Amino acid sequence: MTTEQTFIAIKPDGVQRGLVGPIISRFENRGFKLAAIKLVSPSQEHLEKHYADLSDKPFFKGLITYMRSGPVCAMVWEGRDAVKTGRTILGATNPLASAPGTIRGDFAIDVGRNVCHGSDSVENAKKEIDLWFKPEEVQSWKQNAFDWIYEKA
Ligand code: GDP
Ligand code: MG
Repeated sequence: MTTEQTFIAIKPDGVQRGLVGPIISRFENRGFKLAAIKLVSPSQEHLEKHYADLSDKPFFKGLITYMRSGPVCAMVWEGRDAVKTGRTILGATNPLASAPGTIRGDFAIDVGRNVCHGSDSVENAKKEIDLWFKPEEVQSWKQNAFDWIYEKA
């Protein structure tokens, strides 16, 4: 079983629009386990690190301003194939290309206001979790419903 952890964040627009609950519900309802959660206001430097691979993009400055425009809800979700499935739950980067039923497909229109972030690979998930959380902020706990969600471990 490939139990993975992925970094999911509700961006400032998602927090402001009251979408923290609905977004958490998508992951809870699916069966994923919440391992860490906090509301944070990340520094410019922190966000430049988080989005380092996009630093040469024309929208980079606007992206950092957007991400600093209010609190962000940072989370770690855990479960089988959590990274790829997390991205599927979020939808395509451009909400207009996101299928209905995905978070972006249901709650967003503009790419620059796409309400959520999700790690794009297991390697990047590890880096992002390290950047956003101290080790003691990530909980290890037994999900009681585990055997009702997974056929076998
Ligand atoms: P993601 O992994 O699906 O979030 O997409 P990327 O890693 O490619 O981009 C990171 C974030 O930058 C996206 O979620 C958007 O908020 C923003 N972004 C990406 N492409 C564009 C763009 O063409 N214009 C604007 N304004 N923002 C963009
Ligand atoms: Mg990305």
